[in-house]
Amino acid sequence: MNDYITTSDVIIIGGGASGLMCAGFAGQKGLHTVVLDRANKVGKKILMSGGGRCNFTNYFVEPDNYLCANPHFVKSALSRYTQWDFISLVEKHQIPYHERKHGELFCDNSAKDILKMLIEECPPDKVDIRTKCDIDNIQYENDYFVLKTNIGTFKAKQLVIASGGLSIPTMGASGFGYQVAEQFGHSVLPTRAGLVPFTFSDATKGLTERLSGLAHDSAIYNERRTFRENILFTHRGISGPAALQLSNYWHTSEEIQINLFPETDIEAVLFEAKQNAPKALLKNILAKSLAKSFVQELEDLFWKDLATTLMGEMQDKALRKIAQQLQSWTLKPSGTEGYRTAEVTLGGVHTDEVSSKTMESKKQKGLFLIGEVLDVTGHLGGFNFQWAWASAFAAGESLIACKN
Ligand SMILES: Cc1cc2nc3c(=O)[nH]c(=O)nc-3n(C[C@H](O)[C@H](O)[C@H](O)COP(=O)(O)OP(=O)(O)OC[C@H]3O[C@@H](n4cnc5c(N)ncnc54)[C@H](O)[C@@H]3O)c2cc1C
Repeated sequence: MNDYITTSDVIIIGGGASGLMCAGFAGQKGLHTVVLDRANKVGKKILMSGGGRCNFTNYFVEPDNYLCANPHFVKSALSRYTQWDFISLVEKHQIPYHERKHGELFCDNSAKDILKMLIEECPPDKVDIRTKCDIDNIQYENDYFVLKTNIGTFKAKQLVIASGGLSIPTMGASGFGYQVAEQFGHSVLPTRAGLVPFTFSDATKGLTERLSGLAHDSAIYNERRTFRENILFTHRGISGPAALQLSNYWHTSEEIQINLFPETDIEAVLFEAKQNAPKALLKNILAKSLAKSFVQELEDLFWKDLATTLMGEMQDKALRKIAQQLQSWTLKPSGTEGYRTAEVTLGGVHTDEVSSKTMESKKQKGLFLIGEVLDVTGHLGGFNFQWAWASAFAAGESLIACKN
């Protein structure tokens, strides 16, 4: 144990997206800021994000893109540091980027550009970034947060928790932020993995294994939300952007539904085929819009007994039923892949106990909470990073120089 004591204006726990961003704002205000991260390097999730290209924000950020027990909580921070502010920063650093579908913005080259930018935004004479730092305990003594760590003792009157959520533990994720929040009297809403593939233990498991690698443009939905994009069959279940999005709105043991023809009135198509292609088989009609292997699986599921019946001989009632099954295929996931592959953590520190303007705790003066540790979860598409940037700005704005 190192006995050296470092006193600063601000200590930030976590050198990820929100922590580095906040350190930049604080450092630029002239505040001596120490960032402590337990991992061997900062910003690991940034580097792996967006398939290595970091989907850093989205052209169309709205409060409705976020899940939070208090849906109004995100409004203030998102409106004061917008996607346009972050895009300006990216442009200032001459990072080439492009838009993919739905307003999602990605780096042309590498997520490394975003991490480099965040670090460059931290004035080196003001911001001290320490890695491989294990925090043993935190005490609040005489207006100071005192952090005992394996690399010394750190003291400051302001402490920012930016330690993220539980997803991808191998990248340094921990529940530490929740523990610290609880230590200072906060309540933590139950956490669960979000933006995560569904898994199955029933017959669907075999089907997804056999179709593994196949993607299909679908609408996937439950009573809470509908998402329209690709679903992807995998060896373990169903992934793909639409499935990941719905996972945020799914609870254990609930069913989900998939419309395999979101753009087409498939019932009308089948009736037309009965009229105009009476000698065809249903599977041949469907194979015009679905992969043959997929049609075969659907046949085994829904119309095995009619596999050899010609379209012209199909009863109207049977066609209506099949159309309905194709547009509301009901599945019951056994679970999700969990934190191992989840992009985010749902739940977290209850936002009712945190100022939506400053991100300061209402329970403990000088304590700030930003990023994913809070009960704020974005949709897929750059919304989680935008929350990290916006909440970091809100806290950064209200951090002050302290007389030490
Ligand atoms: C595979 C993957 C891809 C993603 N892609 C995207 C994307 O393209 N777009 C998007 O918007 N979002 C994406 N996300 C989500 C996004 O990465 C997070 O929402 C965001 O990083 C949260 O920022 P944060 O600062 O709260 O936490 P993080 O960025 O996770 O940073 C937390 C930091 O705290 C450190 N830490 C944890 N525990 C301790 C402790 N006990 N002591 C000290 N330090 C600690 C960690 O090492 C880490 O550096 C992705 C997530 C994953 C897992």
